Amino acid sequence: MAVYYRTKGFIFKKDDRSEADRVFSIFTKDFGKIEIRARAIRKITSKLRAGIDKFYFSEVEFIQGKNHKTLTDVVAIEKNDCSQNFEKMIIYNKIAEVLDKFIKGQEKDEKLWNLISDIFKKINSQKLTADATRLLYFYFMWNFFSELGYMPETQKCVKCCEKLNPYNLYFSNKDGGIVCKNCTAENYYDKETCSEGCRRINSDVVKILRLIFNKDWQVLSRLKIEHLSLNLLNQLSENYYLYMLSSHSFS
Ligand SMILES: [Zn+2]
Repeated sequence: MAVYYRTKGFIFKKDDRSEADRVFSIFTKDFGKIEIRARAIRKITSKLRAGIDKFYFSEVEFIQGKNHKTLTDVVAIEKNDCSQNFEKMIIYNKIAEVLDKFIKGQEKDEKLWNLISDIFKKINSQKLTADATRLLYFYFMWNFFSELGYMPETQKCVKCCEKLNPYNLYFSNKDGGIVCKNCTAENYYDKETCSEGCRRINSDVVKILRLIFNKDWQVLSRLKIEHLSLNLLNQLSENYYLYMLSSHSFS
């Protein structure tokens, strides 16, 4: 007799298979990242259609077959239709990309689940400005890497452990955190080191990163952030993301 499993999850990817099937990639509460095949779901008569789509938050029921999981029932908890909201669309797409690229195997991860649920609540419970939406993505991305065990040092220089001088701050992907001028200077003209992320940042970016790691969204969402600092944070985040992607194999 088949065993039925039931769990909640965030649907972050869908791929069409054969004539009318579809495979959904879902980050679930109880099993981590899984793929579930929905048979004949692309037919108009399918009862499963209403409960599942990309970016939905749904309760899914499935059976585990020899080769894959098959969807047997699904109820949508939150239908996230982003077609009218460009900012939301961007953040959902970026979260989906991170989950797809950095989580390979099936494994329950309560901390990641809590982070994703937390982001969902924040996106849906308040009217976010364009800047706050960008900031919320950074909040997700940095905390995501932190949960995976790659939280950068932001309290002191990662190399010499000295207190940071707010006027001379650098960030090194390779060393995993903020580097003071003294420690940067010796390698500053070393191209390799520079290309691996010894980039200049400012004290606002450090402040924002600390708030992100403290998960202090109350303060973060009310911050008035200068355009320059937001751009610096944007470049730093993109750079760190690419560095993680190229230097670690997540499987
Ligand atoms: Zn130092």
